Amino acid sequence: MSWNLETLPLTDWLPNSEKPLLIAGPCSAESEKQVVETAKHIAKYFPHAIYRAGIWKPRTRPGSFEGIGEIGLEWLATAKQETGLLTSTEIATPEHLDKCLKNNVDAVWIGARTVANPFSVQILADALKGIDIPVFIKNPINLDLELWLGAIERINRAGIKKIIAIHRGFQSIKQSEYRNHPHWEIPIHLKTKATNIPLICDVSHISGTPDLLHQTAQKAMDLNMDGLMIETHINPKAALSDAEQQITPKQLVSLVSKIIVRTENSEDIFFKNRLEELRSQIDNLDAELLNLLSRRMTISKKIGSYKEENSVTILQIRRWKKILKTQKEIGFLAGLSEEFIQKIFDNIHDESIRVQNEVMNKNTIKKNKV
Ligand code: PEP
Ligand code: MN
Repeated sequence: MSWNLETLPLTDWLPNSEKPLLIAGPCSAESEKQVVETAKHIAKYFPHAIYRAGIWKPRTRPGSFEGIGEIGLEWLATAKQETGLLTSTEIATPEHLDKCLKNNVDAVWIGARTVANPFSVQILADALKGIDIPVFIKNPINLDLELWLGAIERINRAGIKKIIAIHRGFQSIKQSEYRNHPHWEIPIHLKTKATNIPLICDVSHISGTPDLLHQTAQKAMDLNMDGLMIETHINPKAALSDAEQQITPKQLVSLVSKIIVRTENSEDIFFKNRLEELRSQIDNLDAELLNLLSRRMTISKKIGSYKEENSVTILQIRRWKKILKTQKEIGFLAGLSEEFIQKIFDNIHDESIRVQNEVMNKNTIKKNKV
């Protein structure tokens, strides 16, 4: 990536950035009482949380509750006044941003559906120029890291440095226990490419049900994320949106108390030595793996040559299926998951085909020249 992300760590702009940063509040603002009461309960236990409530709701079908609109911003202002919590809401247009600024909303977020559209993100980026407000950027609904990074880049180029990336999972056609599949590898890749960006996990939209919140939140913390977004409502059953996944403030307290926050490093000398020892074993095994892969690709090249000489196609689907079946059986006995074997061998096979193709084309070009 040629562009250099310039974001500020949470400690530079949040009055209190203890870990995990908690963003909690209802999916949608519904009534003044609901907004203010929920905020009061949250503030009692989490005075440093950022309060969330959707004012304009991007719903899949028209006709369902599409958000309470501008009046809800006044309720958010009351909640802030009565609890001291910072407030946040979703924006999708420059008009939404204007209204948030007029009503002193402290932070805004760009939702998954908007992030999926670079035109919309650019319009928001242009509207944000010269404005000092924290912007949270959710991952797009589809499994596309570049689109997420692209949205972060557009907002950052508009001069916004107070950015938080929010991992909220991805829509998937695969059957899954999650509402939105976490695909944990994507936030890991994001952190690898944009190391300094604060990253939090919206466990509610990933889980879709309270039952999965704890394990999802723990996993996020164990991936060293900076915080959690958790939808909280004084009466989830009566919620006008996402009723199935919201929890009460009381459940929120119990959930957060169960989460173990581990540190990235430990100063314990025995731990450090043991970790170093194990890591050096891993480094040696990685070197061995690469050596084996290189030898495997050398054989693929030879095969590419023989196939070219004998006018045989590179891809032989029956052989490929047989390899997969055998390796999955061996992998199973070795305690490796089928999904993992599939991923590894998909990659090995892709590279083997690429290498064979290269050899085949080279040989053919040579022959054509003669
Ligand atoms: C939300 O936070 O209520 C919401 C609509 O989230 P997302 O954009 O992640 O679907
Ligand atoms: Mn929601």
